[in-house]
Amino acid sequence: MSAAAEPKVYGWCPGALRPMMSGDGLVVRVRAPLGRLTQDQARGVAQLSQTHGNGLLDISARANLQMRGIREDRHQELITGLRDLGLIDLDAQAEARRNVLLAPFWRTGDDTQAIARDLSAALTAVTDFTLPGKFGFAVDCGAEPVLQDTAADIRIERAGNTLILRADGAETGTPVTRESAVPEALALARWFLDQGGAPEGRGRMHRLIARRGPPEAHTAAMAKVGFCAKPGAVPAGRLAALEFGQMPAATLAALADLGPLRLTPWRALLVEGAGQLPPLPGLILGATDPRLQVVACTGAPGCLQALSPTRDLARALAPHVPAGTKLHVSGCTKGCACPGPAPLTLTATGPDNFSLIRHGTAADQPLKTRLSAAALRAAPELLKEGS
Ligand code: SF4
Repeated sequence: MSAAAEPKVYGWCPGALRPMMSGDGLVVRVRAPLGRLTQDQARGVAQLSQTHGNGLLDISARANLQMRGIREDRHQELITGLRDLGLIDLDAQAEARRNVLLAPFWRTGDDTQAIARDLSAALTAVTDFTLPGKFGFAVDCGAEPVLQDTAADIRIERAGNTLILRADGAETGTPVTRESAVPEALALARWFLDQGGAPEGRGRMHRLIARRGPPEAHTAAMAKVGFCAKPGAVPAGRLAALEFGQMPAATLAALADLGPLRLTPWRALLVEGAGQLPPLPGLILGATDPRLQVVACTGAPGCLQALSPTRDLARALAPHVPAGTKLHVSGCTKGCACPGPAPLTLTATGPDNFSLIRHGTAADQPLKTRLSAAALRAAPELLKEGS
């Protein structure tokens, strides 16, 4: 991509049946049922990644597993392998509709698991409406919500003893039960379409809510609850973060030997029932590791739109990021790794050329421009306030 070109907005996410071409081959996104891989499934995916791709796996911000570097002439063979593992939907439309994220700390038979299962089945079966490609549902019914900072359009959450269905962007919702949650969620999705939330097939719930407010019946207050995932012991097992949300397939295979795996939207994996985890390539096991303070997209050469590599720079700057803050390094103004504002952002504007933005997104007005990776490594104090 030339330095002057605007990044391309696709408006849809890759799936397994509808992969997306990237700089390192096809990106194939696997939407594991209920965000969980059995030990056999995880071993199988690791093997397929090594056989048909470049052996690198990402976890997406919606807790999907992304296989990178898949060769185009191997895609069909890969799909056959994934289907044998029970990881492929009936068709690409059903795959796209089944965009359900569930709080990873669910227990067998609890509201989160039961509603997410029923909602996934209902979205697979429904054929009379088409939602925008990125439209998604969050089922977050543990004692406290943990997904409020994760992108979703329709949320089912708990407030005390009550389940609340809420349109994203609204501060109020409507009470539901375990039985009514799924039909009510589908009705809210239809309301979104009826209200003109998706002109030309694109749109997000929070934009519609900002324009016209929630449905009139949505009057039950839902408090904002912050949550920050850290590596370590959690309900159901142990959480391991992934450096830049990526790991080699061999790491997935090694983790599979320790237990079933749950995918999370926090660039982390939950290993069910695990005590300690061994150090493995790509894993971050310490809650104070400086790499937890940086995010960086794929960058060059893996992304076709990237103007510069990102991750080596982010890794080098991580120990210098002021405590309690966050650095986002983006290969272009699209800001895939952190679509919202970050305390510090370095956006590539050309080969080895970055702009520094404070308290903004990758596309916002920079404070400093024309910074090379070498200059930033030599003078990381540039990241400090007032420098
Ligand atoms: S933000 Fe990064 S991953 Fe996204 S399009 Fe730009 S370079 Fe590619």
